Amino acid sequence: MRIGKATDTGRIRASNEDAVLALELPAPGGGPDQAAALLAVADGMGGAQQGEVASSLALSALSRHITGRLGAAGRPADDGPPGGGGHLRRILLDAVQEANQQVFARRTASRNDMGTTLVALLAAGSGAWVANVGDSRAYLLRGGRLQRLTTDHSLVAAMVSEGLITPDEVYSHPQRNIITRSLGGGPAVEADSFRLELERGDRVMLCSDGLWEMARDAELGGVLRSAPEPQGAAEELVRLANRNGGADNISVVVLDF
Ligand code: MG
Repeated sequence: MRIGKATDTGRIRASNEDAVLALELPAPGGGPDQAAALLAVADGMGGAQQGEVASSLALSALSRHITGRLGAAGRPADDGPPGGGGHLRRILLDAVQEANQQVFARRTASRNDMGTTLVALLAAGSGAWVANVGDSRAYLLRGGRLQRLTTDHSLVAAMVSEGLITPDEVYSHPQRNIITRSLGGGPAVEADSFRLELERGDRVMLCSDGLWEMARDAELGGVLRSAPEPQGAAEELVRLANRNGGADNISVVVLDF
């Protein structure tokens, strides 16, 4: 596994409230086929720099929980059959709840409206679990074809699924920034999760809306297909979003398998 990451304030916002995480984890099985990694992007919200606190708090809680659990639990590759509710999934979803509780506690204590999106991938060997809350996304480039893996929890995504607006209107709708699920909104959060069987040559990308709103999937796919290294791909995607306006904070993590 090779990983690249980049985050940028963009051209309009005064500060960067996104956070990114790319962690190569020790391989408890010892061999290179047991390599493990945790990737995540969080897009914080809330005035007066509270978004920055929320996104970084969420990712540090996520990383602390997962590294602690993997260390205690031994081999993370012991994940059961594909599609089954494996060991890794439980660890990832528990970590998402822990991150939610940390942000919720901080929000309650400081009486503000902080919150954050989260998209996270926990990979071990050739199996990975993805979890997401909000409108940060995961994409997979396989065999030259880019597919989006996650569903946004946003008002406009719900309107598309109900046929009220077209997928293209998501990019310009006045309420496109309204997300319907976030970390920190309550004592528990509902995250989507699914297993991904990684194949040799796969490239996975996690990103905040500051990337995907600035460039259509065809443009994202063009960069992901042409950049040889994951770090170069992440940096080129940030440049693309800035060339197209850079209206929001831009964050991206790229994993090559
Ligand atoms: Mg954003």
